[in-house]
Amino acid sequence: MNTVVVIGGGITGLSTMYYLQKLKKNSKSDMKLILIEANKTLGGKIHSVSNGPFIMETGADSIVARKQGVAELIDELNLHNEMVNNATGKSYIYHNNQLKPIPDDTVFGIPMSKEALFSSELISEDGKKEALKDFSTKNTSFTKDSSIGLFLETFLGKEIVKNQIAPVLSGVYSGKLNELTLATTLPYLLDYKNEYGSIIKGLSENKEKFQSAGNKKFVSFKNGLSTIIDRMEESLTDVDILKGVKVNKISPRQNGYTLQLSNQESIDTDYIVLSTPHTVAQNLLEDEKLDHDFNQLTNSSLISVYVGFDILDENLPADGTGFIVPENSHLICDACTWTSRKWTHTSKNRNLLFRLFYKNTDSTKFNYLNSLSKQDLIQVALKDIKMSLGISGEPICSEVTKWTENMPKYHLTHRETIDSLNDTLSNQYPNIILAGCSYYGVGIADCILSGKNTAYTIFNKNEGAY
Ligand SMILES: Cc1cc2nc3c(=O)[nH]c(=O)nc-3n(C[C@H](O)[C@H](O)[C@H](O)COP(=O)(O)OP(=O)(O)OC[C@H]3O[C@@H](n4cnc5c(N)ncnc54)[C@H](O)[C@@H]3O)c2cc1C
Repeated sequence: MNTVVVIGGGITGLSTMYYLQKLKKNSKSDMKLILIEANKTLGGKIHSVSNGPFIMETGADSIVARKQGVAELIDELNLHNEMVNNATGKSYIYHNNQLKPIPDDTVFGIPMSKEALFSSELISEDGKKEALKDFSTKNTSFTKDSSIGLFLETFLGKEIVKNQIAPVLSGVYSGKLNELTLATTLPYLLDYKNEYGSIIKGLSENKEKFQSAGNKKFVSFKNGLSTIIDRMEESLTDVDILKGVKVNKISPRQNGYTLQLSNQESIDTDYIVLSTPHTVAQNLLEDEKLDHDFNQLTNSSLISVYVGFDILDENLPADGTGFIVPENSHLICDACTWTSRKWTHTSKNRNLLFRLFYKNTDSTKFNYLNSLSKQDLIQVALKDIKMSLGISGEPICSEVTKWTENMPKYHLTHRETIDSLNDTLSNQYPNIILAGCSYYGVGIADCILSGKNTAYTIFNKNEGAY
């Protein structure tokens, strides 16, 4: 009987186990499955907190519904009745001390038509003219490994990128556009440029794809995103789950590995899945042959601050769901979601709930914020809310989470680094597999897919071993 240990009970580790259990059942295999999680609860970066009439998320707040595997998993877990979608509405950009809407008919701020471009209040007439060169220029040099920032600036011009696209895209992908590739962000933009001769035309020709998903783009659950974690945990009836137990060391032994645990016990295993952050994987493997590649992987940081008020949500602009703040603004936050508006299930009494994000795009500013106490961070958030929306008052609830150096940030050569890491790993440590957000995409849907792929890899290896 072979043993598989998954280290890390976030969505990746849970998905790995979910699909391994399914494969085991279908093939009547006698594989032993063990999941080890350092925290007392499963979920990692997915954790919902209920506080009075409000539901808040310390990490992720939703799943992109249209991504591969998401609908299938929600179906299998029988979570349809629990599902909620985001309310759609306008997103604003805080531009020149005012909230200006991101025009309709845009994808991540990129116009899908000339009309959408012309309607923008965020770009000057010259900036609009410059963007039209997208229709008359050809791509001769960009590939999917090129920087998305340079690609967009080359064809659409600097102004629209700075004022309308970068605030949206850098927010979603946590990084400066010149440090992100097309491959790890919006690879289809290159296909559109090559096929239709224009990014705008390509988006326009494929409008249906974006619009059909548009109204119900994101999914959460009535009692918060943790619902999917709880349901997955319940479904793992054939898995030994150890919570509040940390893996401290991995030692090779003949045909397998021994794990030293924080509870002083040890486990012998044939397969290991490392679905922890890459820094933990690197420390556990402790091998200088892997260090070069591991050291190429970087993380960014973020502080999330929720504040809830005893003030009705109707005090906000009627059609909005939040705003993004471009660089060099006098607001300190990078973005503010009107959570009670965007996710109505989060506020039972329809009272205002805001979530403000503080990112480490400017390290001096971020280090200062990171040194503040939770109470002081709430004061910073209240000031931002007052300046941007004119709303003031004592919050009736709050939740502050610091994600310090814990959010993977993909650089231009990310794919090559992962290939090289996997090559060395499979030579030096057969049957140890890396999975999850540090390597194969940061979105929850990517992590679910990474877990599923990992389960199939192990299962096929194991079947081949007989
Ligand atoms: C603030 C924030 C907002 C986000 N918003 C979204 C969003 O809206 N939509 C979206 O799709 N994605 C979002 N993401 C990204 C997404 O949540 C993550 O990429 C994803 O949840 C990561 O899952 P994972 O299982 O790969 O890693 P993690 O969730 O980091 O899980 C790794 C687990 O390993 C455990 N661990 C670490 N060391 C050990 C050890 N030695 N022994 C045992 N266990 C160990 C940790 O405790 C942790 O539980 C967000 C992330 C953050 C931080």
